Amino acid sequence: MTTTELADHFEVVNPATEEVIETVAMAGLAETDAAIARAKAAFEGWRRVSPADRARLLRAFAAAVDADREHLAQLEVTNAGHTIGNARWEAGNARDVLDYYAAAPERLFGRQIPVAGGIDVTFQEPLGVVGIIVPWNFPMPIAAWGLAPALAAGNTVVLKPAELTPLTALRLAELALAAGLPEGVLQVLPGYGPVVGRRFVTHPDVRKVVFTGSTRVGKEIAAGCAEQVKPVTLELGGKSANIVFADADLAKAAATAPYAVFDNAGQDCCARSRILVQQEVLEEFLALLEPAVLGLKVGDPSLVETEMGPLISAAHHARVASYLTDDVSIHLQGKAPDGKGFWFPPTVLAPVDERSRVFTEEVFGPVVAVLPFTDEADALRIANATEYGLSGSIWTRDLGRALRVARGVEAGNLSVNSHSSVRYSTPFGGFKQSGLGRELGPDALNAFTETKNVFISTEE
Ligand code: NAD
Repeated sequence: MTTTELADHFEVVNPATEEVIETVAMAGLAETDAAIARAKAAFEGWRRVSPADRARLLRAFAAAVDADREHLAQLEVTNAGHTIGNARWEAGNARDVLDYYAAAPERLFGRQIPVAGGIDVTFQEPLGVVGIIVPWNFPMPIAAWGLAPALAAGNTVVLKPAELTPLTALRLAELALAAGLPEGVLQVLPGYGPVVGRRFVTHPDVRKVVFTGSTRVGKEIAAGCAEQVKPVTLELGGKSANIVFADADLAKAAATAPYAVFDNAGQDCCARSRILVQQEVLEEFLALLEPAVLGLKVGDPSLVETEMGPLISAAHHARVASYLTDDVSIHLQGKAPDGKGFWFPPTVLAPVDERSRVFTEEVFGPVVAVLPFTDEADALRIANATEYGLSGSIWTRDLGRALRVARGVEAGNLSVNSHSSVRYSTPFGGFKQSGLGRELGPDALNAFTETKNVFISTEE
């Protein structure tokens, strides 16, 4: 289909029931350009809002999100099939990210640098209009990680949610207005990637692009931004390793491993989709893994006890299924509902050929491959034998080894004896083809500002 043949409305589907829940108008090029013009006009006013007032408005936005948390969470359950437990966390995360960056306008310090003949100071200037392109897998947090620091630094934002999951982003824009953010400061434009997303890249008044999505599209965005030397942050795919050493707390490592890959039905850029287990404990680990996988509660995402929901769409279901070719050995498969909905059972593969597609490509579904390794060097060799480098886990009781391996894995976010990847107060991003730049944490403002140096002569 060419971009001129794309429908001007999009039917948003509940992936657990396949029912159409809403029809959303898709912005075309003219509407995108008009929104960018409004954002450009709003920038002059927004950058001049005093730091304390900008902080107050962001805190009010956070409070509005907090008050609407349950509604936002329910929207995500029906739009993205997220479990209600996850969706509540995600709405809370959007609030927390806004609260965290609400402190930034009053702390956007420059420096005073000693020089001869005067004083030298630096300013962190906002960039202008920031275009944010969001994927469907975590619509709320990923929108917030971009828009909160961008707004805090004094930029205005145009944000394109994924075609499949626009509802929570649209609600966030309503909440921003209700909280008192001026018109045009944050606009959400549902639309197609090759129309609205691409326009953010090509439009000269969009001064920065934040893209989260596939590595394939990320490369196209980076190439497009290069035309205008436009700064870009890229959060892309992953094929992360969960490395389990023989001295680890095996029971805990095995009990938690399914959640590190099957959470959000495996549609998580940080999914630990390769479990590397030291050879001498492989059998024991697989035996401990079995009840954890079979016990995973897959089903209606609106129930609090549910641990895994459906995949996002029929097309994505077909893509995930395409990895389970005849030559792939399924060691273990959990249960998933029959009937309506894009259900896929949690699946453990072993043994696996290191060169197979399922071991090298991002499946983005509830499929994990288990492979043995001999020693530390072998674990690092396998873990790093990928173009991706987003996250990973290391299980061992040996602190020295934990640190050696953590320093050796080529990835941006590692956890030891845990699977935590994301905290709003710590930096997040990928090595190699998993991305460019960092989001979250104390330094995210740098990605939304330019440093300006000013020298003031004190000569008479
Ligand atoms: P995708 O690349 O297909 O789409 C992502 C977004 O880009 C969507 O909004 C889409 O409409 C838009 N888009 C598509 N083509 C475009 C174009 N030519 N120009 C501009 N925009 C365009 O990815 P997806 O399938 O929505 O998301 C899954 C991918 O996202 C996975 O690879 C996953 O690992 C990655 N991801 C990465 C992170 C991270 O932080 N590193 C987080 C979540 C998801």
